[in-house]
Amino acid sequence: MTDKEKAWKAFSIYIRTKWAIIQTGSPDYAVCITCERQYQTQLLHAGHMFPGRMNSVLFSEKFIFPQCPTCNCFIGGVEKQVEAKLRKVYGDVLIDSYRRKTRRVIPDRNMDWVGRELRYKRKLKLLLKRYYNGDKI
Ligand SMILES: [Zn+2]
Repeated sequence: MTDKEKAWKAFSIYIRTKWAIIQTGSPDYAVCITCERQYQTQLLHAGHMFPGRMNSVLFSEKFIFPQCPTCNCFIGGVEKQVEAKLRKVYGDVLIDSYRRKTRRVIPDRNMDWVGRELRYKRKLKLLLKRYYNGDKI
């Protein structure tokens, strides 16, 4: 596994777990952002809500959600209704600036993959610690 893949894996586990706790109150079950069905967190992907997996938005926590493999692979990123939902939650300014960012190129060599991996492993540990302590997520 490359450093980039390791960083993505650590991020993916962290972000799915975080949304799982927010959505269902349990780290073990999360809801697909697109079809709204509940799955075991480990079966879901971390899906980007808008097309583009550029380094500039690869780890955008606000725009990456649990998504079932069917919706992620066959339906693709965001559907109109999901975009409308996000616009309501985040507002147009944030959505539009995110969309511009999806086109910005950051070369792999400028990404600190090892640092990212450690950061998201640390964040996961902290998240679970807070969850098991009954703290607010
Ligand atoms: Zn789905």
